[in-house]
Amino acid sequence: MKNSLLLVIAIVIGLVPAMAKNLSFETYKQKPKLVVVVVIDQFRSDFLTRYQKDFMPASSLGFNHMMNTGAYFAQSTYGILQAMTCPGHAMILTGSYPAQTGIQINEWYDIKNKKRAYCADDEEFVFSPRRLKTTTFGDEVKNIHPDSKVFTVSLKDRSAIFLGGHRADMALWYEDKPNEWVTTKYYNGGKTPAWLAKINAKQKTKGDLEAKNIEAALLGTEATMDLAITALTEEKLGQRNNSGPDILGLSMSNHDILGHKEGPDSSNLKKLTLFEDKMLAKLFNALKQKNLLDKTVVVLTADHGIPPAGDILRAGKIATGELDFLGVIKLANEKLTKELGSSGSTPWIEGVFASHVYLNRTRLAEKNIEAGRAQDLVKDIFAQLPGIYKVVTREQVLQAKIPYFDLRFPVENSFVSDVAGDLMLIPEPFFAQKTGATVNHMTNWNYDNSVPVIMWGPKWFQAGVYAGSRIVDIAPTLSFISGVLPPAKASGRVLDEAFKQKN
Ligand SMILES: [Zn+2]
Repeated sequence: MKNSLLLVIAIVIGLVPAMAKNLSFETYKQKPKLVVVVVIDQFRSDFLTRYQKDFMPASSLGFNHMMNTGAYFAQSTYGILQAMTCPGHAMILTGSYPAQTGIQINEWYDIKNKKRAYCADDEEFVFSPRRLKTTTFGDEVKNIHPDSKVFTVSLKDRSAIFLGGHRADMALWYEDKPNEWVTTKYYNGGKTPAWLAKINAKQKTKGDLEAKNIEAALLGTEATMDLAITALTEEKLGQRNNSGPDILGLSMSNHDILGHKEGPDSSNLKKLTLFEDKMLAKLFNALKQKNLLDKTVVVLTADHGIPPAGDILRAGKIATGELDFLGVIKLANEKLTKELGSSGSTPWIEGVFASHVYLNRTRLAEKNIEAGRAQDLVKDIFAQLPGIYKVVTREQVLQAKIPYFDLRFPVENSFVSDVAGDLMLIPEPFFAQKTGATVNHMTNWNYDNSVPVIMWGPKWFQAGVYAGSRIVDIAPTLSFISGVLPPAKASGRVLDEAFKQKN
């Protein structure tokens, strides 16, 4: 009696998964020949739900097809402090948090070398995945099946690079000058596939794919999908006699480029979403034409979301605003000088970058002042700025003493020692640091963290709408299905509730 009551309580509070499922051995033996990972940049989870009625019917093989016949995790979450392109793409196929991947934000202030750093920069190759401190699903596939091909494309270098991982055969991205698809020497010595020349020659006759207008967004989205489908055809992905799966990763960046300018609720963003529906159908039709549908797993997801535009929030009486740190930096510098003396030739606050405050650590060391003391001296000055929710200090993170229950998980998941500042300024929902963009995503709040995940592959996954997944679950699930090791630091779980019970 007592035991069964405990079991009921355990199920109710979620300690025991109520519906753990298994694959039959017959199904497990059949491995995918191809895994296609489709990322739509800034594709918040409601883009699929709000426009579902406007999408083409499932028979046309677009979004409705994936939602209807795939395992649709309608609201998956990142659970990180600052949702953006680099950490997002680095998480999708590593199954790991930024604290594990080393990719906390897109750009930061490198306090050791006193210069700007970028997630995909590389002194030797200009761009590479070498800042990524773990393996991806593709790396693990290639560790076991070196003849598998990993091929990625995106307008953004960082998106193609982190989907590809360390062992990618090729990652292609777009440069507006020279208006071409390019790579770096990290991949195949910089030699792009021969078939790319024709595509680039055609691109030369067209405009900038990254321009911030709907025409360029449609053009760029189609160009990205066409490039991916050409890679599928020319590289014979999933169509060779190799032992493991090939991987095709593509990230459609225009949704983000236009979203920053117009916000997620503009009629153009709807127009672009309906076009993405057509592009997904184009991909599925290509798979169908090559007889790959029953040998392929397709994953659809996004790297982060976005808040509504400021004018919509204000009209709806929801507090919003841009944080301007200039005034408080001055106050903080004055306080530190008063308490700690002269900062020398560099101010006490060296900079504020992406909501991280960097203190003059060189001077603190010279004067033998504990960093935690300096952080505590100015913490409240920043906390009082309107629009700031909480300020977390570096010392609080290092000692695992974050005093705010809702921030412990995202801050600890995201903290990378070489990247993070001395103070992390966490804005209230709908507030963000002033940038050039009209709308920006850079927070732990749900509008930035909630994205869809669809695992499609009717042989392995049971159609249905599911709850309770995290982005870090994608890579462990793909590894499990493919019979390769999970990425080295993967900390997600296998989404076994979506496994097909019988074939
Ligand atoms: Zn963005």
